[in-house]
Amino acid sequence: MPRLSDRVGTFTDSVIRRMTRISDQYGAINLSQGFPDFDPPRPMLDRLAQVAYEGPHQYSVTFGARNLRDALAAKQGRAIGRAIDPDKEIVVTCGGTEAMMCAMMTICNPGDKVMVFSPFYENYGADAILSGAEPIYIPLVPPDYDFDLSLIEQGFQAGAKAIIICNPSNPCGKVFTKEELTAIGALCLKYDAFAVTDEVYEHLVYAPNEHVYMSALPGMFEHTITCNSLSKTFSATGWRLGYLIAPADVAESAKKVHDFLTVGAAAPLQEAAVVGLRFPESYYEDLRALYTEKRDYFLAGLDRIGLKHNVPQGTYFVLIDISDFLALPRFAGWTDLEFCEWMIKDIGVAAVPGSSFFKEPVNNLIRLHFARQKDTMDEALRRLEKLKELLN
Ligand code: GLN
Repeated sequence: MPRLSDRVGTFTDSVIRRMTRISDQYGAINLSQGFPDFDPPRPMLDRLAQVAYEGPHQYSVTFGARNLRDALAAKQGRAIGRAIDPDKEIVVTCGGTEAMMCAMMTICNPGDKVMVFSPFYENYGADAILSGAEPIYIPLVPPDYDFDLSLIEQGFQAGAKAIIICNPSNPCGKVFTKEELTAIGALCLKYDAFAVTDEVYEHLVYAPNEHVYMSALPGMFEHTITCNSLSKTFSATGWRLGYLIAPADVAESAKKVHDFLTVGAAAPLQEAAVVGLRFPESYYEDLRALYTEKRDYFLAGLDRIGLKHNVPQGTYFVLIDISDFLALPRFAGWTDLEFCEWMIKDIGVAAVPGSSFFKEPVNNLIRLHFARQKDTMDEALRRLEKLKELLN
């Protein structure tokens, strides 16, 4: 009898998180796995320090501390223009990662089909395998990452139970328009299917683009499982606080899945997060302004160097086209993964190979992120200039 399950042989570890480990090993500037190099807002840290002595230190309610769910319901309810029931429609999870896994486990039987856009955030592949779902890939076609709606309809006709929508989209930075979401939503309604959204970058959207919530569209709350997180919004990726919002009957089952997967998220951190969720609207405006500045600064740096890249409408990721480098004799036959490993060692900057996000055989893109302080971005850009010299 084999010692291990068949399922663990069908996916690799996360390439994103592997790149962080290799980057640390070589002391490179890590622009691979997306997380900020600055701390959560001070009031959250002050509250966390206080909680260290006052508690809670024991389990919270498994699907989330009451005050955290109240604060989440208030904030997200304002966003979607509908009251959210903190007892029946929210499950607090260990990061957006668990929210997505929990959503998949809640709605998928082994063999069920689920549509996934390509490029996709790599977790969705493993989520599908672990929940037994079979992905149907819908291409997002560069340069604008448009999609063909008729392929989505075909997917539903082939029996797809859900479509996963990462909006704003990691890694391509696409922000789905209201028209696009309305059209996808209409198909979810027509085929009685779910939209499972990943909206962790909801506040990192660059003007003139605006974030539209799928669950806010007419009739769609009942058909949407929204996966979200506090990681990006409050620069707290290590706190591992996520949540899902779903209609009561779905959330009821998701609570069971979550309970047996993890019991609950860290109680002291939930308590400290409540402070952040009560910040005024200006907090989110400032966050957006901060990241707009970072995006513009980093992209201007890439332009100065002459690296070809997309212009993300949202998220803190940018895709760089490395075709010109792979055409050089010294890189002949290299994969994007080999190129990224070489970059870590010889250039001192860590990126994620684009192939880990695409179903199609894409080998010419690498992903960098700009959730970094200016000095770090400057040093990364200085190092990236060495890349360009190779082309001279
Ligand atoms: N979403 C981040 C990225 O794509 C990482 C999230 C994670 O590693 N859990 O880099």
